[in-house]
Amino acid sequence: MKIVVQKFGGTSVSTKERRLLALEKILEAKKNGYSPVVVVSAMGRKGEAYATDTLLSLVDKSFRDNNLQASDLLMSCGEIISTVVISNELNKISIDAVPLLGGQAGIITDNNFSNASVVRIDTKKLLNILNEGRVPVVAGFQGLTEDGYITTLGRGGSDVTACLLGSALNSSKIEIYTDVDGIMTADPRIVKNASLIKEISYNEVFEFAHQGAKVIHPRAVEIAAKSNIPLVVKNTLNHCSGTVISKEISNKYNGLITGIANMDDRIQIKVSLEDNKSNKNYFNILNTLGENKISIDLINVFPDKKIFTINKNQFLSFSAVMKNLNIGYTYLDDCSKIALIGNGMKGVPGVMATILKILTKEGIEILQTADSNTTIWFLVKSDSATTAINALHHEFGLENEFSFIK
Ligand code: ADP
Ligand code: MG
Repeated sequence: MKIVVQKFGGTSVSTKERRLLALEKILEAKKNGYSPVVVVSAMGRKGEAYATDTLLSLVDKSFRDNNLQASDLLMSCGEIISTVVISNELNKISIDAVPLLGGQAGIITDNNFSNASVVRIDTKKLLNILNEGRVPVVAGFQGLTEDGYITTLGRGGSDVTACLLGSALNSSKIEIYTDVDGIMTADPRIVKNASLIKEISYNEVFEFAHQGAKVIHPRAVEIAAKSNIPLVVKNTLNHCSGTVISKEISNKYNGLITGIANMDDRIQIKVSLEDNKSNKNYFNILNTLGENKISIDLINVFPDKKIFTINKNQFLSFSAVMKNLNIGYTYLDDCSKIALIGNGMKGVPGVMATILKILTKEGIEILQTADSNTTIWFLVKSDSATTAINALHHEFGLENEFSFIK
């Protein structure tokens, strides 16, 4: 049996018209001899009736915060509704579909509600359904604890569900259907002429996802990479061939930069020795933040100061920790972290200098930089991020249909 996992994101199942296009993809897979396992997200994005954020707004935040189990149950409802709606529509075109909770599809997790980790996957039920020639339609983003409570897998979790199932079933491929043609050289909402990356390695796409390109979840990429199952990101709305993500890619394209990712809502923090002279805690700040699960990045440590960034949603916890340590600091909010990613940069000198030249020409102030051998990061004020990304995208020639020279 040739299995394909097909995941449809929120915008792919949001309206009847879009769902019809999703059904076509399922039908096509069947026609090509595959047994599809369908994974669905909740219908629509923020603000729409069954989207996760809308469901969350139905109860008090304080209730949710103190009842993570109830909160997960509520958050899981959107995907469950989608499974039944899609199954109904599949039945109408004579495809025998079986709607399933994540747990019924065999996804067993720990009880870390809201961000559960998978402990095992039991594929027996899915395989029985597939062997009967039926199509399982699985609610994404959720699992079940050993003692039967519904958990959720963290934001973007439907991508994770698809890759977990693809890997457990040893599927031929995993298809992630969304509202763009695939992985693009930058977020097409920011760069209008971003081009499609036809082939990319797991490593590079992981970096893209990790640096904020929300088109795919980084954990999903890791899972697919571990099993070496080809992952394809495609548009539900057209017949574009999409982006194929695999271990080896043909190396005809030798540009420096593969693409640009960005992350908004960063706050830059500066802690100076001068302001914390007689405070021994100063030397342990970074450790203490780690112990308190406050995630920091763009870390620059100097003899007389430490500079780093945190996400806006951790600022309250951050200030509480600092207060506790009696540490003085200054901060700058509304910052964006921009990452230029490319295996082609390895060992090539002068890329950072080129970036600085481009941004200086645009009059953009760079607040901080960092680099590894395949990624260069810099921080700017969010109101100049779009200009910065577009200028770099243009100067590095990323709009030139690089998909075709690849
Ligand atoms: P879905 O509901 O299908 O999971 P998401 O909103 O999670 O969709 O992801 C798709 C969105 O990701 C696109 O609409 C696009 O704006 C955004 N995106 C960000 N960076 C990129 C990128 N490099 N390539 C493609 N899309 C990107
Ligand atoms: Mg998504």
